[in-house]
Amino acid sequence: MSSKSPCRAIKITFGVCVVIVACIWAAGRFGPIRPVTTNSGFREIMGTFVQVAAVAGDSGTTKRCIDAAFEQLELVDNLMSDYKDDSEISQVNRDGYKQAVKVSRMVFEVLHRSIEFSKKTAGAFDVTIGPLVDLWRSVDEKNAMPSEEELAEARAKVGFEKLILDEQEQTIRFAVDGMRLDLGGIAKGYAIDLAIEAMQRAGAVGGMVDVGGDIRCFGAGPKGKEEWTIGLQDPGIATEAIIGGPLTLILELTDDAVATSGNYRRFVLIDGKKYSHIINPATSAGTEGLSSVTVIAKNAMDADVLATAVTVMGAEKGLALIEPMPETEAILITAGPEPEQIQTSGADKYIRK
Ligand code: AMP
Ligand code: MG
Repeated sequence: MSSKSPCRAIKITFGVCVVIVACIWAAGRFGPIRPVTTNSGFREIMGTFVQVAAVAGDSGTTKRCIDAAFEQLELVDNLMSDYKDDSEISQVNRDGYKQAVKVSRMVFEVLHRSIEFSKKTAGAFDVTIGPLVDLWRSVDEKNAMPSEEELAEARAKVGFEKLILDEQEQTIRFAVDGMRLDLGGIAKGYAIDLAIEAMQRAGAVGGMVDVGGDIRCFGAGPKGKEEWTIGLQDPGIATEAIIGGPLTLILELTDDAVATSGNYRRFVLIDGKKYSHIINPATSAGTEGLSSVTVIAKNAMDADVLATAVTVMGAEKGLALIEPMPETEAILITAGPEPEQIQTSGADKYIRK
């Protein structure tokens, strides 16, 4: 997964730059018994900060719901992190060219969906981006731009059409030697959706799961409120002030997910210039143009993937992708000295006035 960048402090700092202030004080009525809200506080999973809130009839149930959510988050991390040598993704990365590697239903599903998203985004979203991500990470250490040869060599190992899935056997294979999967743009969303479902099964009437600023919530809001309030931080502010910094936008969500990607969150620095950790497969370089992309969707996987994809596609193509999608909205902030906020036509209804 994306998260354990060489500079851990920077990663953590930027990984939660879009901060959540999921607390609402509203006038919800729940009948004679007021549900209990329990918040897990922040824990570190998937290389970022995670928090879960559960609303249920009693505190025993809320605690069980929180445990159930974390169990799913840990499970996905253990299967899909490319930083864990024994994860299934690491195994595919090691052996995928030599032989077809049998994977779990979950990993197969995520890769299957990844390919669908690649097709839907004209290749902007591509989980085979690993060799280019590695190359840009290594140049961060050297503080020098990659050479044309290095870029061409890495690019030859990238491409979702080189990823071979066998539905029958549930195996994954690489068509080219040296390919590497990186699920940093999708695994958080997938994990959040599983965690929400687990909380619902465990008896929550409401809940929220936040993995490094990618969030999904459902049902009753916290402490009797009717919705969940999510604060988005200004991408331009000093990022040391992660939690509690000034907010550009406050979103009011009910049964929705939100994810933010951006060049301001994690990047490599070469000669003082920032290069995004999100790579455009068409240019082999870090994306430019948008400092932050927030996508609101009905599930966290869609929000996660689409935020990453729109960052690659840029404002015009990105908005054209999201606009026709039902129940999906995007809020973009352009990069540069005079940042501009651009959004899809239905985004306003989620933004607190
Ligand atoms: P996110 O923070 O969700 O926008 O995901 C960014 C992460 O996704 C990066 O840190 C990489 O691990 C990975 N990534 C980078 N570029 C791409 C891309 N074009 N398609 C899919 N994943 C990418
Ligand atoms: Mg994403």
